[in-house]
Amino acid sequence: MSTLQRIIKGASDLRNYKSITLKNKLQCLLVSDEKADKSSAAMNVNVGHLQDPIDRPGLAHFLEHMLFMGTEKYPNQSEYSDYLSKNGGYSNAYTSQMETNYYFACQNSSIEGALDRFSQFFVKPLFSEACVEKEMNAVDSEHQKNIMQDSWRFLQLFRSSAHKHTEFCKFGTGNLQTLSHPTIRDDLIQFYNKYYSANLMRLVIYSNKDIAQMENWAQNYFSDIPNNDLLPPSFKALPFTQENLGNLWKVVPIKDIHQLSIKWILPDMRKYYKNNPASYLSHLLGHEGENSLLSILIKNGLAVELSAGNQNEQNLWSSMNIEISLTNKGVENYEQVLQYLFSYIQMLKEKGVQEWVFNEIQMLSKLNFDNKDNEKPESYSLSLASRMQYYPIEEVLVQPYLNEQYDKNLIQDTINQFNIENVRITLISKKFAEECQLTEPIYGTQYSVEQINEQLRNILLNPKIDVIHDLIKPNTFLPKNMDLFTKEIDTLPQYPFLIRNEEFSEVWFKQDNHFQKPKASVKVKISFNQQTKGIKNQILFALWISLLKEEMREISYMAEMAYLGQSLNVVDGALILSVGGYNDSLPQYLKQIFTIISNFNQTDKTKFDIQYERIMRQYQNISKMQPYQLIFNYAQPLIITNGINPDELQPTLEKTTFDEYLVFQKNLMQKLSFQWLIQGNMTEEIVKNFTVESENILFQAKNATKLSPSEISDIRAIQLPQKTMFWEKNLGSHETNSAIVSLYQYKKDTIQNELKMQFLANIIKTPFFEKLRTDEQLGYVVHSLSTTTRAVLGFIFMIQSNVKSPQYLSQRIELFLNNFKERMSNITDAEFEQYRQSIISNLSQKPKSIFEEANDNWDEVLNNQRLFNRRIQLLSEVKNVTLQDVQELFNQIFFEEKKKLDIHFVSNNHLEENNKIKDERLKNNEIEQVQSVVGFRNSSSLFPDFYSRL
Ligand SMILES: [Zn+2]
Repeated sequence: MSTLQRIIKGASDLRNYKSITLKNKLQCLLVSDEKADKSSAAMNVNVGHLQDPIDRPGLAHFLEHMLFMGTEKYPNQSEYSDYLSKNGGYSNAYTSQMETNYYFACQNSSIEGALDRFSQFFVKPLFSEACVEKEMNAVDSEHQKNIMQDSWRFLQLFRSSAHKHTEFCKFGTGNLQTLSHPTIRDDLIQFYNKYYSANLMRLVIYSNKDIAQMENWAQNYFSDIPNNDLLPPSFKALPFTQENLGNLWKVVPIKDIHQLSIKWILPDMRKYYKNNPASYLSHLLGHEGENSLLSILIKNGLAVELSAGNQNEQNLWSSMNIEISLTNKGVENYEQVLQYLFSYIQMLKEKGVQEWVFNEIQMLSKLNFDNKDNEKPESYSLSLASRMQYYPIEEVLVQPYLNEQYDKNLIQDTINQFNIENVRITLISKKFAEECQLTEPIYGTQYSVEQINEQLRNILLNPKIDVIHDLIKPNTFLPKNMDLFTKEIDTLPQYPFLIRNEEFSEVWFKQDNHFQKPKASVKVKISFNQQTKGIKNQILFALWISLLKEEMREISYMAEMAYLGQSLNVVDGALILSVGGYNDSLPQYLKQIFTIISNFNQTDKTKFDIQYERIMRQYQNISKMQPYQLIFNYAQPLIITNGINPDELQPTLEKTTFDEYLVFQKNLMQKLSFQWLIQGNMTEEIVKNFTVESENILFQAKNATKLSPSEISDIRAIQLPQKTMFWEKNLGSHETNSAIVSLYQYKKDTIQNELKMQFLANIIKTPFFEKLRTDEQLGYVVHSLSTTTRAVLGFIFMIQSNVKSPQYLSQRIELFLNNFKERMSNITDAEFEQYRQSIISNLSQKPKSIFEEANDNWDEVLNNQRLFNRRIQLLSEVKNVTLQDVQELFNQIFFEEKKKLDIHFVSNNHLEENNKIKDERLKNNEIEQVQSVVGFRNSSSLFPDFYSRL
């Protein structure tokens, strides 16, 4: 049984689509893309954790984990992931409130085998007893990983405050307390049989084959999924009503943040998706241009950031959310911040709905849909499968991009619903630690709740609007000319080439020869001399960038709304500016940016203080990051000469003064050099003009001289000694997780060496994960990968563990490698060929957009290696790598020439075990401790600077 609808496509979308419905009422969307370099599928099941039985929180999520653990047809628990990793693929899944989404990607030639294995999840999974126990621990470590994360804590606090009889107050992740139950396996099976019904599933298959072929696969593999003709989940009870709204919450965060979070609870907005009144309102409220609410708050020193967006929940209700990052002054005067917000809304109510604002949003979203860049097949499949649950199939591609119909009254009605009765105000800051006496039971978040007091209530009911004068201004960056400079793309160069080459400036240019979209990317690295070297200067530089960004905010926000994004970053002591989007207004915008930079001279102490406070809080929050996210930052100063120990940032900033900043600012641009890369719908002439013009703007304003490459300081990788070294850091009592990174250093990244490392990484990845995470259950985060530091290759193992100490983990990693020797020597030629195919398939993936292509080429410009055809070179060399090469590499890097450095993060929970093992290993001379980072660095030999421009 199949039906064909006309599916609305974007103007530049060349793929074929077809929707069919199988006999079992499974709705499938087939996407045929002859240019696809990967294939993918996603299955969305319309059941989520809001349907967990009341006494089994986390069951839907646990079930998601269990489907990966073997099926009747493929009983081996690692069959699916093994198959994918040998075939250039991977998979993942997530459970949300109302959906469970499963997806994978793999090389084109293996899609049928992957579909066969994948479909069995929904036909006949095993739920084997042995796996039930283990996977419950995996779910528990996942929760342990989240427990100190503010985003999870705030979400659960919000949900737990819903009316107690409603589904919304559930806890979705689950842990050992909620899942460990004698009947848990039966509960899983019962839940699965009840809810995993074909009519509630949406399948997307994406491949390079034709539609007829994919239709056959859908029929053959997915027709056996049982159909119970279930109704989609529907909820009646509203979690928030006037009884539990109109109040003020105070919450103590883990990170040192000051935030004001405002939620208006509204009726279901999804049903108005064609008019999208919420997008009109979030556009105005979240605006950062001239006259915006954020600009007013910043001018008054109350806030630094603001965002607005709406969310649809349970097909039943919606919320409009405004998040404001406050300054210290903003926390103390939060009533004033609220007053500005309510005044702004009053102004919107009184000025009425503006059709030109709607038209601007509509025009840009249509433009964006028609010129959309392709995504990776798996993220596209994932998103489409979810959208199929909510939109008619004909509109599944175009929604939620369009704002089709202007409905003035509907927008006005929606604004009128923003009032004090249905709002929930949350203030987040450590300053409330004293008054927050209540505790959310699952995450332990401290909070308090009170009625909005009479005085504030009166102010918000009658907000004075004389402080807020005007609406935002029309956008001057809207692209008008969308023509391509040429359609004769066959004769254009494949790679960037130099169109200007002077000692202080090189300009690489590539006119687009592939994507044919009216877009372009401009990247420039501006180097200064020694002024940015050392930790103090790096901090001053960070302050300078922060202040500059604030200076540019109103303009760059307008450009961003017109899909002309901009970013400013510091890399290796240089300023990197990147601008990308529609090319029409790009040169004009670039000139504006350079003019702002050239005139920039911030001497306002109040503005300095605000950015100082913001960066101080960022530094203070470093220690609150997840150990596995943080541990690489601590590895940096041990492996590279310009690495900075994160612990030094805060004390150094504390000693930094405004006067020092003024000196730094004055001296910053005495000498300048430029490296550019421009790609896209541009011509050589336009590029030459705006690069020269931009450089001149800076040279003239700053009276600067030219910086030669020899004046740029070199950065070198540290050569590890042929030993097993470790460095450790105690994480203190707040952190329940320990973490380890084991780095094995190799050699320079030649094409040959890089390929051998890729083989090694592919061969080790799945077995390492299966052994240390699935079997030994050492933690939720378990990774192995190859890395490059300043052109030096290395192999990394990383584990974050809530059960074991780093020294223990270190031993388990070594034991794994010892036991893996046998497996390495037993790899057959046929298996090795499979790994080779997988690598070929990964290397065959081309960039999906002009921006991805520019990013790859930019790496080559920055590292001065200019191997723009690196991917092609790797592809042509991959056939020459032999099994013996990789076996030799394995023995060299892990045993015979082992140069190993461990970074250990020790939680107090594992301190005792850690010390015991450490003492023993030290006594046996197995390991050597790095006592001082600086001492280690100063006594080490260095690699040459492989990225030098000289
Ligand atoms: Zn999970």
